Amino acid sequence: MSQQWVYMFQEGEAGNKNLLGGKGANLAEMTQLGLPIPHGFIVTTEACTEYYANGGSLTDAIMVQIKEALSKLEDLAGKKFGDTENPLLVSVRSGARVSMPGMMDTVLNLGLNDVAVEGLAKKTGNTRFAYDSYRRFIQMFSDVVMEIPKPRFEKIIDRMKEEKGVQMDTELNADDLKEMVVRFKALYKEEKGVEFPQEPEHQLMEAIKAVFRSWMNPRAIVYRRMNDYPSDWGTAVNVQMMVFGNMGSTSGTGVAFTRNPSTGENKIYGEYLINAQGEDVVAGIRTPNPITQLEQDMPDVYQEFTEIYTKLENHYRDMQDMEFTVEEGKLFFLQTRNGKRTAGAALKIAVDLVAEGKITEETAVCRVEPKQLDQLLHPNFDPKALKAATVIGSALPASPGAAAGKVYFTAEDAKNAAAAGERVILVRLETSPEDIEGMAAARGILTVRGGMTSHAAVVARGMGTCCVSGCGEIKIDEEAKTFTLGGNTYKEGDYISLDGSTGNIYGEDVATIEPEITGDFETLMAWADKARVLKVRTNADTPRDARNAVKFGAEGIGLCRTEHMFFEEDRIMKIRKMIVSKTEEERREALKGLLPLQKGDFVGIYEAMEGRPVTIRLLDPPLHEFVPHTDEDIAELAKEMGLTFEDLKATVEGLHEFNPMMGHRGCRLAVSYPEIAEMQARAIIEAAVQVKQEKGYDVVPEIMIPLVGEKKELKFVKDIVVKTADTVIKEAGIEMTYHVGTMIEIPRAALTADAIAEEAEFFSFGTNDLTQMTFGFSRDDAGKFLEDYYGKGIYESDPFARLDQTGVGQLVQMAAEKGRKTRPNIKLGICGEHGGDPSSVEFCHKVGLNYVSCSPFRVPIARLAAAQAAIKNR
Ligand code: ADP
Ligand code: MG
Ligand code: MG
Repeated sequence: MSQQWVYMFQEGEAGNKNLLGGKGANLAEMTQLGLPIPHGFIVTTEACTEYYANGGSLTDAIMVQIKEALSKLEDLAGKKFGDTENPLLVSVRSGARVSMPGMMDTVLNLGLNDVAVEGLAKKTGNTRFAYDSYRRFIQMFSDVVMEIPKPRFEKIIDRMKEEKGVQMDTELNADDLKEMVVRFKALYKEEKGVEFPQEPEHQLMEAIKAVFRSWMNPRAIVYRRMNDYPSDWGTAVNVQMMVFGNMGSTSGTGVAFTRNPSTGENKIYGEYLINAQGEDVVAGIRTPNPITQLEQDMPDVYQEFTEIYTKLENHYRDMQDMEFTVEEGKLFFLQTRNGKRTAGAALKIAVDLVAEGKITEETAVCRVEPKQLDQLLHPNFDPKALKAATVIGSALPASPGAAAGKVYFTAEDAKNAAAAGERVILVRLETSPEDIEGMAAARGILTVRGGMTSHAAVVARGMGTCCVSGCGEIKIDEEAKTFTLGGNTYKEGDYISLDGSTGNIYGEDVATIEPEITGDFETLMAWADKARVLKVRTNADTPRDARNAVKFGAEGIGLCRTEHMFFEEDRIMKIRKMIVSKTEEERREALKGLLPLQKGDFVGIYEAMEGRPVTIRLLDPPLHEFVPHTDEDIAELAKEMGLTFEDLKATVEGLHEFNPMMGHRGCRLAVSYPEIAEMQARAIIEAAVQVKQEKGYDVVPEIMIPLVGEKKELKFVKDIVVKTADTVIKEAGIEMTYHVGTMIEIPRAALTADAIAEEAEFFSFGTNDLTQMTFGFSRDDAGKFLEDYYGKGIYESDPFARLDQTGVGQLVQMAAEKGRKTRPNIKLGICGEHGGDPSSVEFCHKVGLNYVSCSPFRVPIARLAAAQAAIKNR
């Protein structure tokens, strides 16, 4: 048989959401369970793909099958499409695999025309109802299918109300509505140059095509990108016989959840309206009644409703979100799906369902969206306080969480205010590496420039600090320390609040609540830990971050960046001294001053990690990042260092690079200045010795050499590290194991991973750089043009947020295989931003890495994602 494009609800395979869409699969399943569902059929997602392959039109085969299904539907309904006596009316509803806002709106009452409307009037004995349905249909069809702007119809309604001297559309009588239909059709003709389509079959085909078209509308594209849904899924279309909730006082329509979607409480939750159709409840035209009142209004209906929703929840073993309509006392269900819920509700429902014996622990683990946990891991606004607050502006939700505090305009001021015990919001035009400390001290960061992958965004996410970026509406005066937004001016010390999850900015101090892993959260995470194979480490540069991460379940540090430590105030001078040194002696002298400080950092980190593994990366960024660049700052530093301005300026200029990302950085620094690696290796081992002796933790340092592209280059630096480490251990006179490994972050390293593994005891995939180097665009610049790529369907997601499995992933997989071939027990991990992204975590599981490493606040997300990957790929 040729391909089946269309399925009746009776025959569609339950659970086959990929083919039938979520709505369609459930309508089919409910029909087959014998529940009261209006008859209908589904045009498959494959038909959608076929529609696009066919240049945006329905093939004959698809149209033939739709017509066949329509005639079956007529038989089932006992009504005919376009009939003058008893016309069949249908709804046309979109339905992708997952429910997707941004898709086409539903068209109701399709099938009405100048003749059928009379049939409907006769059949129901209600001319007003018939014409009201017809004018609604013309309006919806024109708007949703033909894209005639809605306001043009609303203007007609307003004018008619004025003419008739009434306030509400319900006050318009049958004749008024007839007149309205005439005017609507005239408008349609004016807009489209043809009459409003009278042929029901034509109406239907147009509506189906509109659903398929909506799959590619900009809102849908954005939504898919945000949620990692591929564009080749396509959407299905559901064509369903209409039932009418607007036929009088024994009719109505409503929505309900089997449990409370915001708290998870096991209690029916919902609303309904008497004498209403379709989306009237959600649209809020009248205030709906709480669902429990249905028990009084229509006791029999409520009884049946209760039986059905209980059956549905037990069948799907999850909280259901349902739509129902009552037509003259008869109950119909129009939709059910696993309901969307807050993270807190998701945890409670999953844990409760296990306690009720309805699902297993592993199923519960799979029920919670890892990314959603984010809501629970940052301070959140007190919902009541948030509701009462006023939004003064909004920008990109760059790093989630909620922050409220006083505004400061420089990193320095922010740091000082925080040290004095203030809650601080740092407001900057944009941030740079020098701002690190101020950013760390701030509860929230607001920038005027910069996208989702800007410095501010990336660093803030790393620190788990709330950040709203790219608020171009802000007029900032950094000198005067003021900014204006939403018509108000805010000065240093004024309160504002940021919502990093929505991007909203509030001009006041909104109350927040702190995160904790307790109760249901703790229970579910314990189940996740039982299921997962991947270890989860954290990226942490300070003891505070390390302790936080351990609290969130980190099993080690996968990446400790040593450069962040150099930016602290008491150190920046020392490192600058080292950088401007002209001879090795001078440099060694300067490094001597840094050694105890670095050692102190590592002691703090080892202690915080209590013997868990710690990977420390040697200095990575180009040296010019550490020196001042404006003449003013150079002059100041020259004075402090006893150098002439010209001399220092020449040094700074000498450090200038055209493309620092690909410049003198990473292991290249150690090749030029081996003494830097030497100092760091000494600090790493001396600290380990001290912690071992003082606290008894058996620290096994993992020293990581960054940006390697060639085995000999790795060997050169490794030799320095090993020589230093062995000397220190010998000096201490104790036994100590340590490992030396490398980051795989340059394509050449991946290509030659078998050779590199001869020297490296472990690989850590630095997928931030590996992505930059593979794509050939930098993270800091990509934000400017990636939007164009999304809009044009070239890339679907940000490769810095979600690992590009086809390209970059191939390098990872290949390097892992080559590495293992040379060194079977080589330890493999990932430490790029991707380590906390669920789809990337699944990839790491499949490739067989030993661990993922991510920022502290994403550790629980990675734990859950790793568990789901293990369960899914068994
Ligand atoms: P969404 O996905 O936006 O919820 P739906 O396709 O579920 O869109 O439909 C929107 C509204 O129209 C819902 O309230 C639904 O119950 C109602 N509706 C859809 N089809 C019918 C129908 N055949 N009879 C009555 N109401 C319908
Ligand atoms: Mg719906
Ligand atoms: Mg790197």
